[in-house]
Amino acid sequence: MQVTIVGHWGGYPKVDEASSGYLIEHEGFRILLDCGSGVLSKLQRFVQPEMLNGVILSHYHPDHIADIGVLQHARLIRGLLGKEMECLPIYGHSSNKQEFAKLTYKEITKGIAYDPDEVLKLGPFTISFLQTNHPVDCYAMRLEADGYSIVYTADTSFKEELIPFSQKANLLLCECNFYGNQDGRQAGHMTSMDGGKLAHAAQVEQLILTHLPHYGDIQQLKVEAATLFKGSILLAQSGLNLKL
Ligand code: ZN
Repeated sequence: MQVTIVGHWGGYPKVDEASSGYLIEHEGFRILLDCGSGVLSKLQRFVQPEMLNGVILSHYHPDHIADIGVLQHARLIRGLLGKEMECLPIYGHSSNKQEFAKLTYKEITKGIAYDPDEVLKLGPFTISFLQTNHPVDCYAMRLEADGYSIVYTADTSFKEELIPFSQKANLLLCECNFYGNQDGRQAGHMTSMDGGKLAHAAQVEQLILTHLPHYGDIQQLKVEAATLFKGSILLAQSGLNLKL
């Protein structure tokens, strides 16, 4: 399994950067997790838009979905230019009917509602969901293939259920929108200390802190998480690529 960080800023992208977007590949099958602002531009450094086999969305905040519309345009235009591709399935929850409806566009993309209580099979991946603590309905995801596992917390404040959900994952892509001395609960986000605590309790192999804040020295997030988690910790950055 291979993971590429496409974008990782919380709320909005920094200049020339992108907000949430993660490319997960296995056996030539490519899934994009979330598609925030700036993601389509950055994505083209790694794969062309017609090369995606599926998109899964955690929730409908703009920093996670803003580039769905331009992804649809890109697939439409590249199809007109002769690139071969199938209709792209975009998986999202259907509790927000208005946003869910936007996932279907001509014959270019098709919105498919995932049932968070069911396991989703997509290409070589088995994906399970966990509802998070966030101001809108949002789901963390655990992707497994060939004995490897990646857990993406999506947006959430710390929640005990994340511990069994993340148990022994090879990689925890953990949102970290706040520093250790802050309290993210009201906003529905985690701190660096929450990330360290979760990674330690779930005994994950590797931790990537992502959905990063726009202020302070982000290196400090890593230092803080390391007081609780002794495994490898990386700060997300666009282009960071890991092979599990
Ligand atoms: Zn959000």
